[in-house]
Amino acid sequence: ANQVQRKPDWLRVKLPVGKEYAHVRSLVDTHKLHTICESGNCPNMGECWGAGTATFMILGNICTRSCSFCAVATGRPLAVDMDEPNRVATSVKLMQVKHCVITSVDRDDLKDGGSIIWAETINAIRRESPQTTLETLLPDFRGNWDNLARVLEVRPEVVSHNLETVRRLTREVRIQAKYDRSLECLSHIAAAGLRTKSGIMLGLGEREEDVLEAMQDLYNVGVNILTLGQYLQPTRSHHPVIDWVTPEQFNYYKEVGLNMGFRYVESGPLVRSSYHAEKHLFDI
Ligand code: SF4
Ligand code: SF4
Repeated sequence: ANQVQRKPDWLRVKLPVGKEYAHVRSLVDTHKLHTICESGNCPNMGECWGAGTATFMILGNICTRSCSFCAVATGRPLAVDMDEPNRVATSVKLMQVKHCVITSVDRDDLKDGGSIIWAETINAIRRESPQTTLETLLPDFRGNWDNLARVLEVRPEVVSHNLETVRRLTREVRIQAKYDRSLECLSHIAAAGLRTKSGIMLGLGEREEDVLEAMQDLYNVGVNILTLGQYLQPTRSHHPVIDWVTPEQFNYYKEVGLNMGFRYVESGPLVRSSYHAEKHLFDI
């Protein structure tokens, strides 16, 4: 496929400003804290940090998988750091995060898939910052639903697992994952009675009918919150951007999604999985 290079104007972002942003910024610098927002160079930092939302990555920074869209390093991960839950909890407290999003690398090397550290991290944050709401962006645990259940037991306010792409492109975009296994993962989250969220990146070569099929599949397994955003290529060795989806097309998907019955649909070029995450705490 041909790669389109030039970014359209609608992907240009506002510079981060505001008192709340400046406050978080200085804490992060002073205490050398780590967020995905910064390491992923996310264009929404001003907005999210200003709203008290930040995303942390746990279980190290080396992933056992090698999805073609993802900037995280692949390889043999480091040993599990039992002190990580406390360090993350301290960061969340210092940054006074109101809504905390946590994600992780995939730890297919571990018997528990990392689920013990996941559960401990949530518990540690709850201990340190009882007012903070939590969203966990989980891996598929390779279909080991007992490991998934260990995290669901601590009942994060929102639980997400990203489908990332449409059925037809799954093999090419995330080689170690499976479209149907991701749907099954989401069905377990929904069955646990938790706010269930998923996201798809657009611009990887999918067609409109692929997107509509994926949206319907997500809705059918019980997903309440859907995010759709433009894929951006992290480096030249990653999956190319096949097209720039227009803001109008994103609006169209949003309308379709709301008509389908999703509670929330965040759909736009700059939408990331954790974008506007603090707004998705509807009553259940
Ligand atoms: Fe951080 Fe997510 Fe917001 Fe980006 S969209 S700044 S990664 S919370
Ligand atoms: Fe990146 Fe997640 Fe894929 Fe690992 S499993 S390569 S962290 S998207």
